[in-house]
Order: sequence, then structure tokens, then C-alpha cells
Amino acid sequence: MAQALLIIDFQNDFTAGGALAVPEGDEIAGPVSRLSHHFDFIAATRDWHPPDHASFDTQGGPWPVHCVQGTHGADFHPAMKDVEVDAVVDVGKGRDDEGYSGFEKSDLAQILHDNGVDEVYVCGLATDYCVRASAIDACREGFDVIVVEDAVRAVEVTPGDSERAFADMREAGVQIATSEEVLAGAGAT
Ligand SMILES: [Zn+2]
Repeated sequence: MAQALLIIDFQNDFTAGGALAVPEGDEIAGPVSRLSHHFDFIAATRDWHPPDHASFDTQGGPWPVHCVQGTHGADFHPAMKDVEVDAVVDVGKGRDDEGYSGFEKSDLAQILHDNGVDEVYVCGLATDYCVRASAIDACREGFDVIVVEDAVRAVEVTPGDSERAFADMREAGVQIATSEEVLAGAGAT
């Protein structure tokens, strides 16, 4: 069976200068790049919204307008240029799709199964939203799931959100490891 790297929403709008910049979001570039060389199969999600997405503050939602389909903000972060992505999965495409989880209304589970994947290593943005939702859904889909803690960053709308997200993920059965541990093949803790 195979391992896959799942890179969540590493996009311009979630990094420095973006519409919904995650603090230190750019800093995952190093670990994501190093991890990418370690995996035969890499899937990457994109937050991919219509201009009137229900999550936007212009529509009464909680977030500024971000990751509108086809815009620069929705493009992958420049560091992704060096990452050989096998499958791009877009989520949040419908006006009312929450789009936090890469598995929501997407083919992601099928793509992973079709490639013989049973173990999914998760990195990307943001820990307390899309990483959390995707990792928990990956467990529900029956995958062994490891979140790479130095290759994720949190929004932290409320202080402690990151810690709570890690607690929620552990409770769902997610393991946590550092990129060093993953690259050394030591497995998760
Ligand atoms: Zn979004």
C-alpha cells in the first residue's frame, strides 16, 4: 500500500499579502518542499470559490473575499512551482459549499483509493479550518492520517484555536508528526 502527501490550500490568498493571510503561512514552504520529494503521490487542494460565495463578508459570511476561481489569490503559492502535484482538487466551488474539507463534494477519496493510498500525510493551511476538516474526514474515509505539525499554520481567530484543532484531530484518530520524523521514516508519534 502507498503513502500520499496531501497539501491543503497552499494558495496566495492564505499567505503574506493575500486576502486572508494565515500568520506565518509562508513558513510552511520549506517543510512542504522537503516533504514533496519524499512522496510518490501528491494531491493538493485549492479553495476555489465563486465571486458570491456564502462565506464572504460581502454575502454576510465570516471571511473577506478570498480564493475566487481563476484569480491570482486562488493560485498556488509560488513555492508550489517545485512540487510535482499528481492531483489538484478544488473545493468550495458552489456558492453554499463550506469547502473546509478537501473531501467535501470532491473525488479526493476516490483518487486516493485508485492510487492504492492507505496512509495520508497532511500539510498546508490552515490548521484550525481546512487542515482540521480534511484530516478528520480522511480518518472517516478509512485512511491512516498523519498531520505534519511544522508544515501547517493556524488562523487563530481566537487564541487557542490551533491547540483545539490538534486536540480535535487526535480525538478523531489523527496522528501528529514533525517533517523531520516523516523524512527520517520514523513514523508518527
Ligand atoms: Zn474559503
